[in-house]
Amino acid sequence: MTDDQVWTDTGPDTSDLPDEAAPVVAVVGRPNVGKSTLVNRLIGRRQAVVEDTPGVTRDRIPYDAVWNGRRFTVVDTGGWEPDAEGRAAAIAAQAEIAIATADVIILVIDAQVGATDADEAAVRILHRSKKPVILVANKVDDARSEADAAALWSLGLGEPHPVSALHGRGSGDLLDVVLDRMPELPEADYATESGPRRVALVGRPNVGKSSLLNRLAGEDRVVVDSVAGTTVDPVDSLIELDSDTWRFVDTAGLRKRVKQASGTEFYASLRTQSAVEAAEVAVVLLDASEPISEQDQRVLSQVVEAGRALVIAFNKWDLVDEDRRYYLDREIDRELARITWAPRVNISASTGRAVAKLAPALRTALAGWEQRIPTGELNQWISGLIAARPHPIRGGKAPKVLFMTQAGIRPPKFVLFTSGRLDPQYVRFIERRLREDFGFTGSPIAITVKARE
Ligand code: GDP
Ligand code: GDP
Repeated sequence: MTDDQVWTDTGPDTSDLPDEAAPVVAVVGRPNVGKSTLVNRLIGRRQAVVEDTPGVTRDRIPYDAVWNGRRFTVVDTGGWEPDAEGRAAAIAAQAEIAIATADVIILVIDAQVGATDADEAAVRILHRSKKPVILVANKVDDARSEADAAALWSLGLGEPHPVSALHGRGSGDLLDVVLDRMPELPEADYATESGPRRVALVGRPNVGKSSLLNRLAGEDRVVVDSVAGTTVDPVDSLIELDSDTWRFVDTAGLRKRVKQASGTEFYASLRTQSAVEAAEVAVVLLDASEPISEQDQRVLSQVVEAGRALVIAFNKWDLVDEDRRYYLDREIDRELARITWAPRVNISASTGRAVAKLAPALRTALAGWEQRIPTGELNQWISGLIAARPHPIRGGKAPKVLFMTQAGIRPPKFVLFTSGRLDPQYVRFIERRLREDFGFTGSPIAITVKARE
């Protein structure tokens, strides 16, 4: 085995399991109660790497684990508190991070020592959270010590689960309990909806929206206005592109060439807003023969702010000559710098040029919108990134990134837990590198920083 493999081997092979979001299990407890020993047990490592010195800094990362075919991520929160000598404040901070990031929390108590004031401080915080908390009485190495575990009922967290992390006693039962307490179904935001993907075709008046819709519908000859007895909303168009059916939302006005009566910009922008919100991905049409305008920018912002996937289509490409091309390139650099991540297609609704590129671009954007990086991978990535380019030092100290997690998809949302405020510039640097290394093509992404004081 090479060093490389040792570094990436953070647990069992999970490649055959369904690619659902792995729930996060956080292990909380005072130094020396046996958290890392327990983590090693949970992830199925034979050799526990345990430091004997209390409070020694360990470079801890989240680990992928599998039990009964269910994949999850185990995080040892202890490493976040390198100088915590069991102080109540330190364990309280751990508990708060666990509440914010985990789906299930394991509180480890050293049953040989019993519950201390610091343990009780953690219990008070965990009590307030809505997350399931599993109380582990560790170091119950034999049947005789089970009474020590029973004493922990007094904490009010329910049944203490007696475990010997060191010898493995009770760890299988504990894993069953952990699985039992995991969220049954994935969060609503990654439940895959059935039916055609929903597309909004938007852009300022006269960019060619209805021409494009007619072109797309005409070419593939599958337009459904309304289907009796189905849930198809009559204002939508079902169009087959590249052997998939897509639902173009709120296209009634475009299709019938009934242009908005007054055409006020305010009204147009409301229509755009409702179409974008009803959609998963938006195609923003720009007129390539004209300068990118403020109105174009507003439509683009509506899509980004709504958190939808985005494809930019430069229409009327048949009118673009070499001269125009030169200026357009410069406009793109200047005006679209904040959304370089959106796939771009150069099309002509009139001639049909390159409209076949639309469906692949939509698929790419939707894939980026739904992309998820496992917690373990994300944290290895962020430690590497920070080691290579640390946060600038402010007042003699640099804030540390303790943990990073992807809190959601559609669009991807990330949370960075830090030991202090991060420079906005550094956050942008992280976002840029996240895109460089993982893609997220076609999707806005959000990074939230939670700084611990
Ligand atoms: P952490 O600081 O909470 O991560 O604790 P460690 O996992 O480093 O364990 C601290 C010490 O407790 C080590 O010497 C372990 O070998 C020991 N330990 C951990 N689990 C058990 C257990 O179940 N029984 C006994 N007897 N010792 C344990
Ligand atoms: P909408 O207001 O965004 O729905 O735009 P329309 O589809 O009504 O198009 C506005 C005008 O642009 C019409 O005169 C179209 O014929 C013209 N147009 C649309 N697409 C193209 C194109 O690809 N090339 C050219 N040259 N003209 C186009």
